[in-house]
Amino acid sequence: MIRICEVGPRDGLQNEKTPIETKQKIEFIHKLAKAGLKTIEATSFVRPGAIPQLSDAKEVYEGLSDLTGSGEFPVLIPNTRGLENALECGVRSIAVFTATSNSFTLKNTNATREESMERIRAIVSALRSLGMQNEVRIRGYISTVVDCPYEGPQDPAMAAEMASQLLDLGCFEISLGETIGTAVPADIRRLLDSVLASIPAERLAGHYHDTRGTALANVFASLDYGIRSFDSSAGGMGGCPYAPGAAGNLATEDLVYSLERSGMTTGVDLELLAEATSYIEQAVGRPSTSRVYQALKAKRK
Ligand code: MG
Repeated sequence: MIRICEVGPRDGLQNEKTPIETKQKIEFIHKLAKAGLKTIEATSFVRPGAIPQLSDAKEVYEGLSDLTGSGEFPVLIPNTRGLENALECGVRSIAVFTATSNSFTLKNTNATREESMERIRAIVSALRSLGMQNEVRIRGYISTVVDCPYEGPQDPAMAAEMASQLLDLGCFEISLGETIGTAVPADIRRLLDSVLASIPAERLAGHYHDTRGTALANVFASLDYGIRSFDSSAGGMGGCPYAPGAAGNLATEDLVYSLERSGMTTGVDLELLAEATSYIEQAVGRPSTSRVYQALKAKRK
């Protein structure tokens, strides 16, 4: 069984310009759950106004109350303030983020790499002081593990070191983010040779971007290393902020099709997934970059 973390409602919609109504986001997540996705990153509890598309985090999360028990709906948490707001809404699964590149964390979070780790430590200690460290699952994201849009190639040893630190802080899984979609399997092998020297494959996930059409090749390279957890976005929603018009997140349809056809199980129904994508595609007003989705759509006509 391959675990898929569907990131469309958060990582995907965050990068879409068209404002999506709260009720459409809630409906989108329901359709994704109906398609069989068990982990759906729902939103991000950022400072109000920081990311207009995600300013309705509380309302979106509360709109999922009927889904509790049918899956896990993690939310992205940037700081302790976000954590407090999320816990008040009943959130019990969070994701924290950092990057190997200092320039990247500075540009995106106005913090050095070390300060971004400090923010994560503060989130974890806030959970401890509330006595909730065993009730809340924490997933760690590390971005720019292969290339940074500002610094270029990254040392795999940095990803390995940061992943160890995040596991020590209590993260159950580390998602390795290939943020700009430049990597090919040789890059991923170099990365995993380094990270797997200190971390078991069961604790890692691949978050590969498809900007240059290489994400699936990177998934299959990772499968050879025993990785069984991947992030993707329905319809490839989100695009790439570093290459306007190009694909960002690997499309969940492309991932599910390729894994299932190779004899692996995902638990996802492709037809129902395409319905979720079709729904959000109309709201976003931009065609999906998923080739499998486009092929399914053409066949239906
Ligand atoms: Mg992404």
